[in-house]
Amino acid sequence: MAKISIEVGHGGKDVGAVTKDGKVFEKDINLTVAMELKHQLERHGQDVLISRETDCDDLAKDFFNKAKAWKPDLHISVHTNAFNGTAKGFEIYRSNIGTYKTRSNELCKRIELQTTNLGQTSRGVKDSPFLLSSLPCVSAYCELGFMDNPIDYKQFDTAAKQKAFAIAYTKGILKYLGKQWVDEKSAEKADGSLALINDSGGKTVYRVIAGVYSEKKNAENWVEELKKQGLESFILQEKKSL
Ligand SMILES: [Zn+2]
Repeated sequence: MAKISIEVGHGGKDVGAVTKDGKVFEKDINLTVAMELKHQLERHGQDVLISRETDCDDLAKDFFNKAKAWKPDLHISVHTNAFNGTAKGFEIYRSNIGTYKTRSNELCKRIELQTTNLGQTSRGVKDSPFLLSSLPCVSAYCELGFMDNPIDYKQFDTAAKQKAFAIAYTKGILKYLGKQWVDEKSAEKADGSLALINDSGGKTVYRVIAGVYSEKKNAENWVEELKKQGLESFILQEKKSL
């Protein structure tokens, strides 16, 4: 088990970068990504210290002092970029402290590869000019993309897309740690099991089965539950052959 500290960029009065229309703040995107990152890392048995879990004022300096005392094995900073309205792609900064630079680079490269696998464009792994240099451990400062560029912002304009980045970060961290990524149990996600069925035309179709019930009411309740989670489903009546 590794100790991993997460700095959630900005918060409260400090909104960070802003979309071109002025409606979305960096602090909120960072929080969505960081909370998912925390969830995924903890699910894989990692010990996480996070700077904030709500929209409160950013106390980065206090947090870095706290993190220093906690002695993390790894540190991840979660931020979203802004520049001139046309820049695009994600970038990752490594710690430039001598002893940690090589391993930080390795961690960043792992995260970069997983994020590229999402179809995102990398601007590269660079030396960190940021706060990272104050933390004596392997570190990565992850910038999602450019939220002041409306085209680039489309890459992460929903919570689901933001969480995909967090999952890519987690996969990169796990690779670095030599640990295996484990998919979330289908039961937890309520998306059922995948059944392979051959239809008469020989065409392969995939039917997702989320549950089988002898009481119709229970089946209806389950459909309701899935609907609440935004999942389409329907009831198929079948005769039990025994
Ligand atoms: Zn930021």
